[in-house]
Amino acid sequence: MRQNVSLKPYNTFGIDAHAAYFAEFSSVAELRAVLEQAIPPVLILGEGSNILFTRDWPGTVLRNRISGIEIVRRFTRRLWVRAGGGEQWHALVMWAVQHGLGGIENLSLIPGTVGAAPVQNIGAYGIELKDVFISLEALELETGRVRRFDRQECHFGYRDSIFKQQERGRWCILSVTLSLSTDKHRINTAYGDVARILAEMGVARPAPADVSEAVVRIRRSKLPDPLLLGNCGSFFKNPQISLSEWENLRRHYPDTPHYVLSNGLVKIPAAWLIEQCGWKGRRVGNVGCYEKQALVLVNYGGATGQEIYALAQAIADSVRKKFGISLEPEVNVL
Ligand SMILES: Cc1cc2nc3c(=O)[nH]c(=O)nc-3n(C[C@H](O)[C@H](O)[C@H](O)COP(=O)(O)OP(=O)(O)OC[C@H]3O[C@@H](n4cnc5c(N)ncnc54)[C@H](O)[C@@H]3O)c2cc1C
Repeated sequence: MRQNVSLKPYNTFGIDAHAAYFAEFSSVAELRAVLEQAIPPVLILGEGSNILFTRDWPGTVLRNRISGIEIVRRFTRRLWVRAGGGEQWHALVMWAVQHGLGGIENLSLIPGTVGAAPVQNIGAYGIELKDVFISLEALELETGRVRRFDRQECHFGYRDSIFKQQERGRWCILSVTLSLSTDKHRINTAYGDVARILAEMGVARPAPADVSEAVVRIRRSKLPDPLLLGNCGSFFKNPQISLSEWENLRRHYPDTPHYVLSNGLVKIPAAWLIEQCGWKGRRVGNVGCYEKQALVLVNYGGATGQEIYALAQAIADSVRKKFGISLEPEVNVL
């Protein structure tokens, strides 16, 4: 256990907040041992790619390094694969596509750990973690007991799960088990530019590895690399409004892009709302709204978490004023 540790290398915004106590663990036994000494509050950290530290952490930060990928069950056309919570998510995707397995190729290049993936039910290019999720094992921080959560028990929603709601901060996710296809893959190229990039690559009948390659190319061209420009990906969720709110909005802004969801709500791209308020590419001191994607807030260097949060609030205020829509952060603001 180390004391007064800078978290700057451990969060992709590059915020220089400090943890009063900090330790890493690579096994359940190590986690139990560090928990015995841990001063509360305890924060389980992955790669810090979905966290904004607005203050120093007064208790203990525990960084998950539990690794390992193994096949745990085989079926005719599927496999169940279990990965350690500290594995890098993208390394798992690469392992899957290299083994010819399908199901998570659209989630290529999402930063972060496997253990954090269920927390916000990561999603991209028309796929969410819940689509391949079987179960996870988690350790209760207060008692040390380990239990299994199946898909229903996780209450997955759009960038949401029970671990962001009523069970927030109570569990450390140790491993995640996914069901991946070995054959007759359900290839999904419907979203964004995936089909166009595959055509450019000259691929007519894509395998999971081809879709992964296309997604990686798109993401590299659109999103800032956190190693070069601090960021946490999308800062806000795309708001979902009721049909009557949509009718009202449409009267004033008929060109608003929108998607009617199966639950009857209407999803509006937050990036479009932010862009309409003039934020895209705008810099305020050390922070700003990324020039290629308005949903991404960036740290140009030396920003505090408070500065980023103030920018986020200013953006949300102007969207509320202009459109009457509240933006909710996707990033965990601590
Ligand atoms: C450039 C960029 C692009 C991104 N694109 C996407 C995208 O397309 N789709 C998407 O969904 N997300 C995206 N993200 C967000 C981020 O990558 C994911 O949310 C990722 O799952 C976070 O993983 P992490 O290990 O960094 O979690 P952290 O940021 O370390 O933690 C996030 C939250 O999960 C908790 N947590 C972490 N590990 C555990 C664990 N083992 N057990 C219990 N709780 C835990 C933390 O306490 C915290 O509340 C992007 C981020 C960046 C920087």
